[in-house]
Amino acid sequence: KPVLAVVGRPNVGKSQLVNRILGRREAVVQDLPGVTRDRVSYDANWNGREFVIVDTGGWASDAEGMAAQIAEQAELAIGAADAVLFVVDATVGTTDEDEAVVRVLRRSKKPVVLAANKVDDQRLEAEASGLWNLGLGEPFAVSALHGRGSGDLLDAVIAALPEAPAETFEETGGPRRIAIVGKPNVGKSSLLNKLTGQQRSVVDNVAGTTVDPVDELVELGGEVYRFIDTAGLRRRVKEASGHEYYASLRTQQAIERAEVCVVVIDAAESISDQDLKILTMAEEAGKAMVVAYNKWDLTDDERRRYLTREIERDVQAFAWAPTVNISALTGRNVDKLKKAIDASLAGWETRVTTGQLNAFLGRIAAAHPHPVRSGKQPRILFGTQAQNCPPTFVLFTSGQMDPQYLRFVERRLREEFGFVGSPVVVQLRARE
Ligand code: GDP
Repeated sequence: KPVLAVVGRPNVGKSQLVNRILGRREAVVQDLPGVTRDRVSYDANWNGREFVIVDTGGWASDAEGMAAQIAEQAELAIGAADAVLFVVDATVGTTDEDEAVVRVLRRSKKPVVLAANKVDDQRLEAEASGLWNLGLGEPFAVSALHGRGSGDLLDAVIAALPEAPAETFEETGGPRRIAIVGKPNVGKSSLLNKLTGQQRSVVDNVAGTTVDPVDELVELGGEVYRFIDTAGLRRRVKEASGHEYYASLRTQQAIERAEVCVVVIDAAESISDQDLKILTMAEEAGKAMVVAYNKWDLTDDERRRYLTREIERDVQAFAWAPTVNISALTGRNVDKLKKAIDASLAGWETRVTTGQLNAFLGRIAAAHPHPVRSGKQPRILFGTQAQNCPPTFVLFTSGQMDPQYLRFVERRLREEFGFVGSPVVVQLRARE
């Protein structure tokens, strides 16, 4: 989905405008200048077009250096966006801070829609026209408070957003798409460099996707793979406040475009919440997965023993993903990644026939029937695999199914059919 960044200095009504666009009261509206809150993204929809809104929130304010801070934040937000909604307070006119953002916008060459907010009535329209002088095209006079003008504004936003890329694996074929993901400094770019060696086959920017993704075609063991958004790996993101948020947004987008994720974890350090979050992101996106424990050269026996315990404790939920212990530095086991990636992709594509599935469900029902709580016996009546990539099953059930029992069935499904390296999705349809 294309990304729209909403930028502007504090107190111009960004959050309120975001609320307006979302048609709900989710974003907290803060009337105090200088209130910092986390950047948030929302799924939005206008006339059937879906996009993601990133609300950059109120930026920290100390009068000193304010314009510079705002420009820096705007730069991050704009870099991650396909189009920008720049919000100005028409009743105040443009300030130094606004000008600072305009300079960033010009440099970025991203499509910009200019919203002149707080035009609560006709009389204020004139103030809005004054904003033509920003050189950003037509200012759209809106009142986020009353909703005035928001339809026209949204039409302009939609026109500015690139068409969603027609990129689904089923249709595109071509090289398999791999995303190398992981928290900062785990060795993602080192791994990419190791894998590419001397090869340098950069694929053109993919139209309609965010953040100017640059993919790289890499040959591994005689087969060509497409590594997603390698610019994001090779470019060092500078340490500005909020950069982690954008790194995470980028990770999310790389995962979305990939078929298989190589999640890199630093074996020399304790597994962290951030590692688990990235594993979860890949699983929830329904992608095939390989876990690479990197920096193996830095681990001693004691660390390895401890890591095993950490994995048993924290990474158990992802035990279905193949793991490879590597060193991007020395090259240890890097050649084993291809095999793991191929195995995961195969698991991800697995199809089970309805006959096989129902034979299995019959065996389960006979050997381990659903526990009976009160009266009626809950049952799985039959099932079918609705799709693969990842394997997705629809189970038709009667009675109140116990989630614990379903998890048990899922586990047995895996034992029976494999699905190595792939999440498995089970959906229920109640039949009475
Ligand atoms: P990224 O942020 O995940 O892309 O991480 P980098 O690839 O930039 O690596 C972060 C740091 O870890 C760099 O100083 C690398 O040289 C170092 N590094 C990466 N992989 C390894 C490894 O396997 N062993 C060792 N000892 N250092 C590594």
